[in-house]
Amino acid sequence: MKQNKTQVYNFQSEVKQLLHLMIHSLYSNKEIFLRELISNSSDAIDKLRFSSISLPELYENDTDVKIQISINKAQKTLIISDNGIGMTKKDTIDNLGTIAKSGTKSFLQSLKKIKDKKNELIGEFGVGFYSSFIVSDKVSVRTRFAGKKPNEGILWESSGEGEYSITDIIKKTRGTEITLFLKKEEEEFLEIWRIKNIISKYSDHITVPVYIQNYDEKNKTYFWEQINKAKALWTLNKSSINDNEYKDFYKHITNDQNDPLIWSHNHVEGNQEYISLLYIPEKAAWDIWNRDNKHGLKLYVKRVYIMDNSQEFLPNYLRFIRGLIDSSDLPLNISREILQGNSVTENLKKALIKRSLNMLTKLAQENSEKYQIFWNQFGLVLKEGPAEDQENLNKIAHLLRFASLKNNSSEQKLSLKEYINNMNPKQDKIYYITSDSHESAKNSPHLELFKKNNIDVLLLSDRIDEWMMNYLIEFEGKKFQSISKEDLSLNKLTEEKKIKNNELPNEMIDFLKRSKKALGDKVKDVRLTYRLTETPCVLLSDSNEMTTQMAKLFSAAGQSVPELKYIFEINPNHALIQKICSIHNENEFNEWIKLLLDEALLAEKGNLENPHKFISRINKLLLI
Ligand code: ADP
Ligand code: MG
Repeated sequence: MKQNKTQVYNFQSEVKQLLHLMIHSLYSNKEIFLRELISNSSDAIDKLRFSSISLPELYENDTDVKIQISINKAQKTLIISDNGIGMTKKDTIDNLGTIAKSGTKSFLQSLKKIKDKKNELIGEFGVGFYSSFIVSDKVSVRTRFAGKKPNEGILWESSGEGEYSITDIIKKTRGTEITLFLKKEEEEFLEIWRIKNIISKYSDHITVPVYIQNYDEKNKTYFWEQINKAKALWTLNKSSINDNEYKDFYKHITNDQNDPLIWSHNHVEGNQEYISLLYIPEKAAWDIWNRDNKHGLKLYVKRVYIMDNSQEFLPNYLRFIRGLIDSSDLPLNISREILQGNSVTENLKKALIKRSLNMLTKLAQENSEKYQIFWNQFGLVLKEGPAEDQENLNKIAHLLRFASLKNNSSEQKLSLKEYINNMNPKQDKIYYITSDSHESAKNSPHLELFKKNNIDVLLLSDRIDEWMMNYLIEFEGKKFQSISKEDLSLNKLTEEKKIKNNELPNEMIDFLKRSKKALGDKVKDVRLTYRLTETPCVLLSDSNEMTTQMAKLFSAAGQSVPELKYIFEINPNHALIQKICSIHNENEFNEWIKLLLDEALLAEKGNLENPHKFISRINKLLLI
């Protein structure tokens, strides 16, 4: 008989790095290799089920799909075999010899950084197969693609050290059989009870039956014992599922090691027919801020697995939600292209947004502590909501949480509802300020008037806030008002003295004239204000102009921004202003007023265009 030729290949360099890291760093949780291999087998069976919808011959007259595990104590091997879709030669090279996923580099980087969370990351990055090398000296994979001839089988072998080999073989049954040659010290995985234990821990809810080969002492025969429930959890009645089962299922479909925070499971009949099971994680995924982050629901059609990460069912601002949708209205042969812009999809999306927002609303009402955990993890993502989903604006607004002047903490805890309930009786606006940091928002001179009058102000300091506030126009009939913008209604509210020019002392009228002359078109106007208590002067944006924070956002995004012109407001009661008032030397006066403007600019923007000029002006004035 002709000897089949074996070809030797090198692993892609990232794989080598990964193998090395994995073997050394994941050892403490080595049992997860079994979860990974079973999940791959289960995926392969899902793929077969899906492909056979259009090509029934792929089943090769064997529709009894299953995963089988057997142990060979004499040879110290553990064998995991499935009759799923299998792999072609190219598949083995592409899937087992390289890491095709774009996230690999960042995965390796985060592995190096995060010491304690490595095993959580493993499944998420699709490096699951390589975990077999944690416990094995050698791994061999015998596989054949469904529908191909028996002589198109492939044997892939490696000891996980830089090389792997590929040999053509005969494999009668379709699918994949993985043999782990266990390391000497890993004999625990040759015990049936140990394997059963791991399967029930990680893989109880996969929809494929998993069997283990057992030995009947009495009859001296081997038999296959099913060790998982193999029932699609979401199809069961809600009342028959307990919390632990929901949690295990979550871990199974997401590979997240943490429990979910909450979930919502719904069977819907009628116009739309679907089952949804939506989870909110307790912790944000590592890549939630990556543009190409994998999110979206698992899609099933009439219980048949169709695809992972279908993003069409949830908007971006709900991208933290995990789970699945099983629709009875979509065709089985649906593709991503058809999914987009399909009216069934659109309606499902609407319904799922409602469900998600209701789930959060309920959590906020019933368990504010848990809601706070949610908000701290995902608040920033939810803040994209007002811009993305005007239709549900009100619901989203109820879910937002803020830091505020009165709350005296940087933690975002206050809801808009609470703000309104505690408003001053004469107040008809919701006041807020945006700034680069909580610290600078909290110390802004604009707040002085509000402190004095005991009026709360929302302190916004996340980058997205300014953008979000463009879409939050009002809440329950109350308009939002930035306190760094001109706002005439404030006078009424605070009963501040109106400044009447004819009642001003001559000196002050003079002061205004001289300042306007000195500053020219650097400012829009110079005015007196009684709103300040401790600060000599402040800058206000005109009510129809762009705010400072907005301008910063634009320029950070590389867009050109017109120069901002402010209204310069002066506190006539401040000792410094009174001192400057009495300066008769025009040059000296000009220096002072320019210094004040720079100070106010610094307070407003957090930086100056020309700090050197500012410093030399201070130095000059200090010497006078
Ligand atoms: P992931 O499952 O996240 O894609 P893995 O490292 O676990 O990453 O597996 C890599 C790839 O190898 C899979 O995507 C699949 O294409 C292939 N594969 C692994 N195990 C099997 C199997 N039992 N049957 C068919 N293909 C498999
Ligand atoms: Mg996998």
